[in-house]
Amino acid sequence: MPQIFSGIQPSGELHIGNYLGAVKNWVALQHKYAKSIFCIVDLHAITVQYDPDQLRVRRRDMAMSLLAAGIDPNVASLFVQSTVPEHTELTWLFNTVAPLGELERQTQFKEKAQRQESVSVGLLTYPVLQAADILIYRADLVPVGEDQVQHLELSRVIARRWNAHFGRGEDFFPEPQPMLTPARRIMGLDGQAKMSKSMGNTIGLMETTEQVWGKLRPAVTDPKRVKKTDPGTPEVCNIYHLHKAFSPAATVEHVARQCSTAGWGCIDCKKVLHENMELELTPIRRRAEELKAKPKAVDEALASGTASCTTLARETMREVRARMGID
Ligand code: ATP
Ligand code: MG
Repeated sequence: MPQIFSGIQPSGELHIGNYLGAVKNWVALQHKYAKSIFCIVDLHAITVQYDPDQLRVRRRDMAMSLLAAGIDPNVASLFVQSTVPEHTELTWLFNTVAPLGELERQTQFKEKAQRQESVSVGLLTYPVLQAADILIYRADLVPVGEDQVQHLELSRVIARRWNAHFGRGEDFFPEPQPMLTPARRIMGLDGQAKMSKSMGNTIGLMETTEQVWGKLRPAVTDPKRVKKTDPGTPEVCNIYHLHKAFSPAATVEHVARQCSTAGWGCIDCKKVLHENMELELTPIRRRAEELKAKPKAVDEALASGTASCTTLARETMREVRARMGID
């Protein structure tokens, strides 16, 4: 029976890149698979500079946003990573089989290290903790955005190496595979880099209609469309990719035609996108407002996730310790 696991850092507000690349898929998959586990990975978020008080607030906000986006604690487990400390124990054990050279080659490490004054070992071993998160539940399917595909390759290497040393002839840990959505890489509004919580180039899921429009209006489009009369190339435009995620198929076709024939200007195109985004985001914002008034519901969801994941994680760790001779 395939098992789903995925995580998100409480490093800022949930944005439409996270939503389209991962979270929307989580919401759909939770009803298709018997067991899915979604984790707010606070121990990953502390691998770059952060503020402890802000982290507490962000962790809670992330839980609320995920529930508002449609994670159902009755069918899926939602919990905060640090509340199941077995993840860190397995990380240490995996550190003893993880290949240093491949960690140093990870794109995310190189990019995030560049932005830090001082680079911690934690940033380097980030993918080892990620492998532990997934494999402690022996999960084999991981719905993520494209930027996480390389980390998952490393999770498979770690699983293979551990199995070779300690598996007693069997594949104790499965080799987890990524599950991507069509919107696997949403670009930031500046058109320069992937939309990321830590880059300030996002549209937050909980932003108001006016805030969303305030960001969409100046967002970068096809750079070759300087004047309204210049025909555009939809495939190179982030706004077109957002249409593909938020607008009905007929609208997407219409948008492509209007862009490539210079029938519409970019503002016309953005207005239609904004309307379609509102249709999807309004109910999520409404649920978030309801949850704000019911903080106990959020606490209960997280506590029940921690309880069920603790049981599973402890089972795996018993077996892992025995096979590694540290029981
Ligand atoms: P940070 O800047 O702190 O790394 P982030 O926005 O990259 O934050 P993560 O918590 O690292 O978010 O990733 C959560 C999930 O969202 C992952 O599955 C990741 O692949 C996905 N994701 C992140 N950014 C995008 C994006 N721009 N497009 C599609 N998926 C994305
Ligand atoms: Mg990230």
